[in-house]
Amino acid sequence: RTADLTGLPTGIPEALRDEGIEELYPPQAEAVEAGLTDGESLVAAVPTASGKTLIAELAMLSSVARGGKALYIVPLRALASEKKAEFERWEEYGIDVGVSTGNYESDGEWLSSRDIIVATSEKVDSLVRNNAAWMDQLTCVVADEVHLVDDRHRGPTLEVTLAKLRRLNPNLQVVALSATVGNAGVVADWLDAELVKSDWRPIDLKMGVHYGNAISFADGSQREVPVGRGERQTPALVADALEGDGDGDQGSSLVFVNSRRNAESAARRMADVTERYITGDERGDLAELAAEIRDVSDTETSEDLAAAVAKGAAFHHAGLAAEHRTLVEDAFRDRLIKCICATPTLAAGVNTPSRRVVVRDWQRYDGDYGGMKPLDVLEVHQMMGRAGRPGLDPYGEAVLLAKDADARDELFERYIWADAEDVRSKLAAEPALRTHLLATVASGFAHTREGLLEFLDQTLYATQTDDPERLGQVTDRVLDYLEVNGFVEFEGETIRATPVGHTVSRLYLDPMSAAEIIDGLEWAADHRTEKLRALAGETPEKPKQARGESDDEPGGFQRASEMVATESGDGGDVDAGGSGDDDADEFETDRTYPTPLGLYHLVCRTPDMYQLYLKSGDRETYTELCYEREPEFLGRVPSEYEDVAFEDWLSALKTAKLLEDWVGEVDEDRITERYGVGPGDIRGKVETAEWLLGAAERLASELDLDSVYAVREGKKRVEYGVREELLDLAGVRGVGRKRARRLFEAGVESRADLRETEKSRILAALRGRRKTAQNILEAAGRKDPSMDEVDEDDAPEDAVP
Ligand code: ADP
Repeated sequence: RTADLTGLPTGIPEALRDEGIEELYPPQAEAVEAGLTDGESLVAAVPTASGKTLIAELAMLSSVARGGKALYIVPLRALASEKKAEFERWEEYGIDVGVSTGNYESDGEWLSSRDIIVATSEKVDSLVRNNAAWMDQLTCVVADEVHLVDDRHRGPTLEVTLAKLRRLNPNLQVVALSATVGNAGVVADWLDAELVKSDWRPIDLKMGVHYGNAISFADGSQREVPVGRGERQTPALVADALEGDGDGDQGSSLVFVNSRRNAESAARRMADVTERYITGDERGDLAELAAEIRDVSDTETSEDLAAAVAKGAAFHHAGLAAEHRTLVEDAFRDRLIKCICATPTLAAGVNTPSRRVVVRDWQRYDGDYGGMKPLDVLEVHQMMGRAGRPGLDPYGEAVLLAKDADARDELFERYIWADAEDVRSKLAAEPALRTHLLATVASGFAHTREGLLEFLDQTLYATQTDDPERLGQVTDRVLDYLEVNGFVEFEGETIRATPVGHTVSRLYLDPMSAAEIIDGLEWAADHRTEKLRALAGETPEKPKQARGESDDEPGGFQRASEMVATESGDGGDVDAGGSGDDDADEFETDRTYPTPLGLYHLVCRTPDMYQLYLKSGDRETYTELCYEREPEFLGRVPSEYEDVAFEDWLSALKTAKLLEDWVGEVDEDRITERYGVGPGDIRGKVETAEWLLGAAERLASELDLDSVYAVREGKKRVEYGVREELLDLAGVRGVGRKRARRLFEAGVESRADLRETEKSRILAALRGRRKTAQNILEAAGRKDPSMDEVDEDDAPEDAVP
């Protein structure tokens, strides 16, 4: 019973009881018996929705009660805020909760006053690299979804981070939460932890395959779900769940598909089904929700989503804006939305239980694999685990779809009877080690080859491998790479990070990205005059003065040096003195060099940027653009015969072009259309570019390169999504790219103008939004920001663009 729990802060057992948690679920009880609340390390491998979060909370709260500090590591940023919100209910018992996301390079000093900290593994890794002081005060660390150490891209970071945290504090309690994987015991061995492994679920899960006119369940039962001629299986299953069992209880469905496009088109079809089941009241609520969705952004995705939601269905994928995702998830939990068509990202972590889960697609296109690849058992089990809403449904149903009896039998074999795969460390891959070895050396965890290998010996990889030589070999190759690129240096046996190496590690860059950026910026320094001439359309024989003619960026180009002057207010981290003898004097032009496109392309071709996919028709378009914009690239364009390299170059160009549109103030809607992406993707690219350009700025300043000013301008423009003339305005809190443009058109062109221009003009430019106007004026430092008594109609004609 929760009331009998000891070792927790005062009031918590009662609070749990008040939440309706009177008895622990069996796996939770087992965890407590294993010493969870006494600081014992534990691996909990239990199905989705069986109360893993409470296991974590009991560990963290008891650790805090003993005067400690706990860290909860999440795999996705979106989950960080969700978890924080969940843990904040303990604040009334004196527990302070903090979340640390975003901005990599900082030591998060303020977090030292928190009892529970939530962060992504990347963020934790970066905090370790930046020597956050509170790191060695940690007494308890929770790793959520620890089976993701198997993930090629993000697994190694989690693995190395856990190893580092354990080294910093050998008595650290590690609580690892995992899906039911095959080899949870190996994970427990690695972490020196107790193992709680269970198949127990709070609500029964019936797994089955639909074929013909019925679902065959694993328990031998069947449920008639007839499919009319020419009809599809999924709508029939969604309708059947909504029919319920004649008890008036409508069941919702989650439909998993393999791509965003499929999620959107399936939602459109399912909306025609759900529409038949919504009541008059619900129709009104759904219309309101649809309006809220349209309010978030005026993109096509937003419109499509709103249209489906109005009829009671929705889609959910990583391309959605965060606000959209939350609105959809909440309305589904409130049973207003009856069906969500989702990509597998929804299965990972987000708590959206449903009466029925339909796994429509069990194969997905995989570029590395070269075709459609079956999903992992683990992944399908996680989707299926979303079925069954505790307290609402008698049981959950998870259904796969088959076209014939053979396919049905195959699906039973492949997914229903099968155990989930083992997790396997992906650490020995070169890209992973490149990053982590540099960080391990730079942050002082090891400074000899032997020391590095000893550190790596504490990873899951070492526990699992039967080829101990391999890690040594890859380590040697990686150390070579780091030395050649000037990130580490050897002095006898001792390995030290160079100053640039330290910076790279703290900036959280893949060393290969750093090398690419440094090469590009140095190349730009060497080719500056020649490229400026080319940009001005001049031949090398006749130098002197010409204005950039390919003025596809309205507003013209501003010299980087002028930028610095207007920015001097918040400068500080850039050594402005270093660029005194400007070699641009050899050739005068108003063009900035490197150009924004050149810089964007440079950061887009690093392994830290996930590039846009090149569709078949794109190749020609971007090849042409590549020749047109050739003088802007920072580096040699690969020849078309270097197939892979050229293709990569073009993908980077497509991504850079998206950024160029963004800073050219192209509407988001146009951008999503042009590049076939969702609004969430634009955000993602913008944030990554901002981070990489910030890193480039630091590297340029450290290497004393003039391009530092151009880089900084390029970064600021990406941050705000504006042309250069709006930089000052868009930097004011509450302004943003659209309002900045409207203010500018109305003659309010700067922060200073915000302080001085007549208020009616400002109010008119802001479309009469008083509260907004007042906030903006306050942020701009206006002495009397009040908007009371101001009438926008008093504004002169030209104030309304
Ligand atoms: P998981 O993290 O394993 O996917 P959650 O921790 O989200 O699952 O738990 C699912 C739901 O079960 C939550 O709504 C939680 O409040 C509830 N829950 C957890 N433990 C108990 C319990 N012992 N008794 C009743 N409800 C519980």
